[in-house]
Amino acid sequence: MPKQILKAHKVRLYPNEGQQIFFAKSFGCTRFIWNKMLNDKIEHYKKTKTELKNTPAHYKKEFEWLKEVDSLALANVQQNLRAAYNKFFKGSGFPRFKKKGHRDSYTTNNQKGTVAVTNNTVKLPKIGHIKAKFPAKINGLIKSATVSKDPTGKYFVSLLVETIVEPLLKTHLRIGIDLGLTDFIVLSDGSKVANPTFLSKLQNKLTREQKILTKRREVAKADQRKLSDSRNYQKQKLKVAKVYEKITNIRKDFLHKLSFTLIKNHDVIAIEDLNVKGMVKNRKLSKAISDSSWSTFTTMLNYKAEWYGKALIKVDRWYPSSKTCSGCGHLLTKAELPLQVRSWNCPSCQQKHDRDINASINILNEGLRLVTLKTVGTTGLA
Ligand SMILES: [Zn+2]
Repeated sequence: MPKQILKAHKVRLYPNEGQQIFFAKSFGCTRFIWNKMLNDKIEHYKKTKTELKNTPAHYKKEFEWLKEVDSLALANVQQNLRAAYNKFFKGSGFPRFKKKGHRDSYTTNNQKGTVAVTNNTVKLPKIGHIKAKFPAKINGLIKSATVSKDPTGKYFVSLLVETIVEPLLKTHLRIGIDLGLTDFIVLSDGSKVANPTFLSKLQNKLTREQKILTKRREVAKADQRKLSDSRNYQKQKLKVAKVYEKITNIRKDFLHKLSFTLIKNHDVIAIEDLNVKGMVKNRKLSKAISDSSWSTFTTMLNYKAEWYGKALIKVDRWYPSSKTCSGCGHLLTKAELPLQVRSWNCPSCQQKHDRDINASINILNEGLRLVTLKTVGTTGLA
């Protein structure tokens, strides 16, 4: 069955000078209203121990310039603040104040064509058509638009579009995936997928450029100059941002292609439900984990499986996938399989194992067992 989904399209914008000023104002107003509403909520709570139900409209009299920007942008701030509070009540961190120049953005909604696209422009409320470059054709109803400016000074709009996706053909193949330590992933069919090599080169470059940036900061400090006045520091800061952006783009592209290929070629995909946060604390693994963007990858697999009618099964992270022999089920002790051991022979059935491939086979088997249990559990009793 075809599925209706919301797909985000990131489009590069080329605003003229007047439009850049409008964007700057919009970023400023949304940041201001976020900080103001948050601050007032905090102060109100300190005094009354109750929550202040404030809205952007309450502030428009006192701060008339708020009327100059898209009112929906302000309404979305209220919603986002609401969402941040709800997250906080569920155990996340307390909402933070926004800093200037840090993730500048605002979101507006499409109301009967107020947001639209042509061949080479994007139309936005209160500002009209802005020159744009589209990476792909946009079909379907646009729901919302988020305008942003990145640290290198580029403008983008992310359009959330209602899209129909067709399920992919069934392949009757299944696969288990293990997070590799040297490779990005290791698959139960015996193949391994390495991290893109140019990514590690770029990461070395980033480290070098960041060291230079730190030095420039120290020089400015020693000269008692503000960082905003130090041209060398600013130039280097831009350089770092550009390398960082390149890494982010290459990594995202790599993860998108890989996740799509896996979903396309298999009907059932089993992965380990890793607690990345907990693992990053472990120094030995931290670099490998953060570099390989495991959580981004599993998120992509998750929504793509749903879009294209495939099944993604998460295996409990406490399941001993590495220490179990995929041939006979013999379980090694922790001492028998330290982290540095990459291959081993099963003492029970003598089978020779590559550590990661064996683990991915176990993940697949455990995943399939879980699916069977679930099916029996729901239909068997009826
Ligand atoms: Zn064995």
